[in-house]
Amino acid sequence: MQHTVIAIDGPAASGKSSVSRELAQRLGYVYVNTGAMYRAVTWHALQLAVDPSDASAIEHLLETTSLECGVSDGRSCFLVNGVDPNEALVSPPVNAAVSKIASQPVVRRRLVDLQRGCAELFPTVVEGRDIGTVVFPGTPHKFYIDASPEVRAARRAGQGLHDPVVQRDAMDSARQDSPLMIARDAVVIDSSNLSVGEVVSDVLKQLQGKGITAKVQ
Ligand code: C5P
Repeated sequence: MQHTVIAIDGPAASGKSSVSRELAQRLGYVYVNTGAMYRAVTWHALQLAVDPSDASAIEHLLETTSLECGVSDGRSCFLVNGVDPNEALVSPPVNAAVSKIASQPVVRRRLVDLQRGCAELFPTVVEGRDIGTVVFPGTPHKFYIDASPEVRAARRAGQGLHDPVVQRDAMDSARQDSPLMIARDAVVIDSSNLSVGEVVSDVLKQLQGKGITAKVQ
């Protein structure tokens, strides 16, 4: 059975993670953070000193790695050879290398399969870069959360994280396979001057028009 999928795409630090998490909680859906999956594979490659740009080395790495997607406490969790990298997912080395790993088609194929598998089991809010365009192109519920480059840089700096968001966005938008782009049928929301709660309310209002209502007010 195909469950409802709410696709939330957007560039780095656009606020889409906070929005997706709260939205999933309000709807009673599972929150799936696909960026965490690309980050976990990157973490694993760096641990084993595999060059993120070396396609055949990455392919070999994936052949010998167990990747599992589960759900805990209403959100997806992702295990690499049984390990959840946790805070290491947002470390500076992972931030710097993740877009290279994510540009490898072999990585995308493997992770997209897992993302689709997760949505077969639960209604989901799935957050990423290619969710409305490639992973779930058939869902009628697509949102693209944007914010100005200045606001996005300030948000990351405010979190005390070193994250080259401009470079990541450039690589994510320019790659051949599943680049970051706005799906033709996505609703675009500029969150530059909006709180998380305001964006969530806006999304919920639009979903309500399609018969999807929040369980938690
Ligand atoms: O969402 P987050 O910023 O954590 O994503 C980290 C990186 O993972 C992105 O910069 C991008 O390279 C990659 N990614 C992707 N496709 C997705 C989600 C994330 O390529 N669906």
